[in-house]
Amino acid sequence: MTQLYDLHCHSTASDGALSPTDLVKRAADNGVTTLAVTDHDTTSGLFEAQACANSLGIRLINGIEISAQWEKLGIHIVGLNINPENDALQNIISQLHDMRTERAEKISQKLAKKGIFNALESVQKVASNEMITRVHFANFLVSQAHVSSISEAFDRYLGDGKVAYVSTVWTPLETAVQAIRAAGGVAVLAHPLRYKLTATRLKKLLGMFKNAGGQGMEVVTGRYNPDEMRVLANHALQFELAGSMGSDFHSPTNQWLELGKLAPLPEKVKPVWELWE
Ligand code: AMP
Ligand code: MN
Ligand code: MN
Ligand code: MN
Repeated sequence: MTQLYDLHCHSTASDGALSPTDLVKRAADNGVTTLAVTDHDTTSGLFEAQACANSLGIRLINGIEISAQWEKLGIHIVGLNINPENDALQNIISQLHDMRTERAEKISQKLAKKGIFNALESVQKVASNEMITRVHFANFLVSQAHVSSISEAFDRYLGDGKVAYVSTVWTPLETAVQAIRAAGGVAVLAHPLRYKLTATRLKKLLGMFKNAGGQGMEVVTGRYNPDEMRVLANHALQFELAGSMGSDFHSPTNQWLELGKLAPLPEKVKPVWELWE
């Protein structure tokens, strides 16, 4: 059977639209044979995802996408094949939970200053005890007809520097990588081109990530064109990082970003799954 890996996606445990069960079902329907569920700063969807994966015969890799800080920049580090019960990892998760709760309060206050009330109460209801993300606020703004789309919510309110933007200092890169390693996982730099760094700065980040114990980087993701993939493959070789592939699927409403719809990993790149298979 052809193997198809998708090692980056989100469920309702963070800012995804599908429950862990529906996410795993959709991946299986799309022919994915190994799926990593990688919710932002939480492992709470993994138990349900595993139960569904067992019943469908698809392989689930326990994952997470940690919000981390590198210099002045917020970056994302995917942890793959982690033990979700590891104490070091859960400590970081609980710190990130507090940071996100505090940030959500501030976002809500900023929205109130613009005449938009009860945002916090509303997103808390939807997210229950899960991680509150800006996507929750974006959905709230759409539901209250303050904006007509999620992207408008980011453009007008939630994006960097916009009226309801609250900057956060996330977990230091080194701490995030160490926690993933302590939990037996592989640390992978997520979507390296999304940080809009110059080539020099991106190489600096990759060097520091590697020094901190990072072992992989995403080379294939839903949105990259072939030229960008070549650039990433070369970086992976230069920094001796394994290559990962993942769609970063969040919701079925985003048609150009689907589970399992990924180019193959370039042959010269060492596949990240060889680190645990
Ligand atoms: P947070 O981690 O709470 O800051 O939320 C970031 C999440 O918001 C990302 O993981 C994306 O899923 C989503 N996001 C960020 N920018 C946009 C955008 N312009 N349009 C839609 N979703 C976005
Ligand atoms: Mn997200
Ligand atoms: Mn990300
Ligand atoms: Mn993601």
